[in-house]
Amino acid sequence: MITDITGLHHITSLASDARLNNGFFTETLGLRRVKQTVNFDDPNVYHLYYGNEGGTPGTVMTYFPFPGVTRGRPGIGEVGEIQFAVPKGTLAFWQERLTARGAKLGALDTVFGARRLRFSGPDGDPLSLIETEDDARPAWTDGGVSADVAIRGFAGASFNLHDTAATSELLSFMGYQKGEQQGDTTRFIIPGGNGADTIDLKAMPGTAFNRQGAGSIHHIAFAVENRQKQLDVRKALVDTGYQVTPVIDRDYFWAIYFRTPGGVLFEIATNEPGFDRDEDAAHLGEMLKLPAQYEPFRGQIEAGLTPLAA
Ligand code: ZN
Repeated sequence: MITDITGLHHITSLASDARLNNGFFTETLGLRRVKQTVNFDDPNVYHLYYGNEGGTPGTVMTYFPFPGVTRGRPGIGEVGEIQFAVPKGTLAFWQERLTARGAKLGALDTVFGARRLRFSGPDGDPLSLIETEDDARPAWTDGGVSADVAIRGFAGASFNLHDTAATSELLSFMGYQKGEQQGDTTRFIIPGGNGADTIDLKAMPGTAFNRQGAGSIHHIAFAVENRQKQLDVRKALVDTGYQVTPVIDRDYFWAIYFRTPGGVLFEIATNEPGFDRDEDAAHLGEMLKLPAQYEPFRGQIEAGLTPLAA
């Protein structure tokens, strides 16, 4: 069994409009844009990262905004809900804030004993706020949301699956412990995690497979401390029969990817080196940063990207 996973690292989704996406996550939700770069496989598209003050693993929501891309169709084989942690008793504040800013809200409910407010991002992104107690993660407070109510990072995520058996087995192998069951959903928890500790598996037999597009979650990344632990995890997965990519340098972390039996694309990402690798911690995300191979084409790349502020 793997014992090196410490919770989520980041979650990456698709968007249709960079400016709208940036405004929603930095202004409406009050997260910090901790990095502004491009998709390393398609440098004409931004890769925007939003998180807490330092962009700590377990707090980072990332987007590839493909201008004008068609909206995705939710279904099975993907992350079904991205859950952000907020302090207890703050959902009334968020209900009012999100409503005032035109977000589409779901009803308040309770999930595994915690109050939840579901809402949609600009592309129908399936998001929710979950009230959590004693979350020690520091919030970003320069985004117009004060520390007593601000998002702390991810609480977790849910997966929509035809059948949960194979993914349950995989999560257990990755060090998650099976928790309670509520209706068609089973909770898995990583012990001693970074705060982004839970994965909920939702069984949806008879539902069609998702079609990726704007608002869809592209992949979900799990955190390991360093490159050695990542190699250990990679070996354990390969030895179990998973087809895992080689280690890829993403500048701010190293990544490996594999497709899971339930259809969800998993990544394992390192906590090192972090987002202050190439810019001062006080100015994260302010300038467009390019990986070395694209730096010679900066002028052309910048000319093709929509400015994030009007
Ligand atoms: Zn990723």
